[in-house]
Amino acid sequence: MKLIDPIVQFHAEIQQIRRDIHAHPELCYEEHRTSEVVAQKLQAWGIPVVRGLGGTGVLGILKNGNSERAIGLRADMDALPMQEINTFAHTSQHEGKMHACGHDGHTAMLLGAAHYLSQYKDFDGTVYLIFQPAEEGGGGARRMIEDGLFDKYPMDAVFGMHNWPGVAVGTFGVTAGPMMASSNEFEVVVRGKGAHAAQPHKGIDPIIVAIQIAQSWQTIVSRNASPLESAVLSVTQIHSGSATNVIPDDATLIGTVRAFSTAMIDLIEKRMKAIAEHTAAAFDAQVDFQFKRNYPPLINHAKETAFAAEVMRSVVGNDNVDAQVEPTMGAEDFAFMLQAKPGCYAFIGNGDGDHRDMGHGLGPCNLHNPSYDFNDDLLPIGATYWVRLAEAHLKKATQAAI
Ligand SMILES: [Zn+2]
Ligand SMILES: [Zn+2]
Repeated sequence: MKLIDPIVQFHAEIQQIRRDIHAHPELCYEEHRTSEVVAQKLQAWGIPVVRGLGGTGVLGILKNGNSERAIGLRADMDALPMQEINTFAHTSQHEGKMHACGHDGHTAMLLGAAHYLSQYKDFDGTVYLIFQPAEEGGGGARRMIEDGLFDKYPMDAVFGMHNWPGVAVGTFGVTAGPMMASSNEFEVVVRGKGAHAAQPHKGIDPIIVAIQIAQSWQTIVSRNASPLESAVLSVTQIHSGSATNVIPDDATLIGTVRAFSTAMIDLIEKRMKAIAEHTAAAFDAQVDFQFKRNYPPLINHAKETAFAAEVMRSVVGNDNVDAQVEPTMGAEDFAFMLQAKPGCYAFIGNGDGDHRDMGHGLGPCNLHNPSYDFNDDLLPIGATYWVRLAEAHLKKATQAAI
């Protein structure tokens, strides 16, 4: 592994920042303390800062030389609304909030890179250090873009990274094309007619209709979608009724749809609506159909992905970069940035959990698990990757021969 020495020397300080953020998790658009920590560090290192971009987002702007070229490096800062069960020293001090996705580590890795870049400045152009709020469902990336991130601060390409538990430390995974799924949610209310449960013929039972709809929806992925494409339709909640002897007025179906292309989402939504409406009509019931598109599929751009993979290989060696990593059905709002700009999102191995300090919970070290903790061994690896990416993208022109 070819880590940058001054970054390795700086490990203790970056780890302290990471653990401080871990101990003070903040949810979507509430990252006031976290963004303050980020902004103060950047300013202390002489990096001009824009605060409040997309709510609680922070942008560091590091210029050197005269080139117009610019690169965006993005980290997310928010935590999750869940209770941490680790009891080590840096466990969450905020009841019901936890950095269970490692965004504390993402923020710290980018700060580590910012510190080095501000000192050594071995590049020609602008490095935009993007610290975004609200990745966990809040669409912070989209909000930063709407707030002028790319209009006011033009950049050629943008890059993101997520720690990946269960994959060895010192490895990277990436792939061109679709890498993470689009996430969407639906809420469908079946409106029937309430009655005494002993007199079903006097009502329209919405529960029977809801069950028919939920079962028929399962034919969409198996019968309507191409078998060569991946998609998931999960009904995750059914709510209806309040008594054993009452047929209720309505029943609600709630769930999620995931796929790797917008065309597939269009197909699933169209078929879900048709099945819901026609099934309800067959039973003399009605439906209110709501389908909400959250995050689009995350599609890596081929050229930037090849470039990023090359930089990864220069850091961890050829054998430790999987440039055709298997995509995941998880979703990620960096997808909005990749719709607006060319770029690449990557996974960095977080190990299998052995790194955790004494007092960690007994659960696996998986994302969104109450026993999770970001692996601090990644800090210099991720920071080195960020630095080499920026230096390679904004390579200084070789001095003209006299
Ligand atoms: Zn997450
Ligand atoms: Zn995450």
